[in-house]
Amino acid sequence: MDSKIRNYYANNHLYSRKMIMPATSEKFKNSCQECKYYVEVVGHHETRKVCLVEVKAYQKRHKRVPANIEIMDLILLLGKEKLESLLGKGGQHLMACGEFEERI
Ligand code: SF4
Repeated sequence: MDSKIRNYYANNHLYSRKMIMPATSEKFKNSCQECKYYVEVVGHHETRKVCLVEVKAYQKRHKRVPANIEIMDLILLLGKEKLESLLGKGGQHLMACGEFEERI
């Protein structure tokens, strides 16, 4: 926190004793389950849900984020190594991250 913000809160009698984080209630309200980047990846033997927020085509909105995607399409989009690293990161989180966007 820089000195300008610290001085603002120090001089403000309402906030001098405590600091209220503005986005905290939003952060606790959402989970990966409702996020549009949490997509079903359909393989030959199993279907897994994976966070695709790191895929540039989806992040920069060049492509629409699908509800589910075939694993071969994802391999063509990312490459095998990138897909393995995405699958290795694990499943859903109880608390949404900063990239959360609600599924419509
Ligand atoms: S909330 Fe964050 S970690 Fe969870 S699915 Fe969405 S982008 Fe991924």
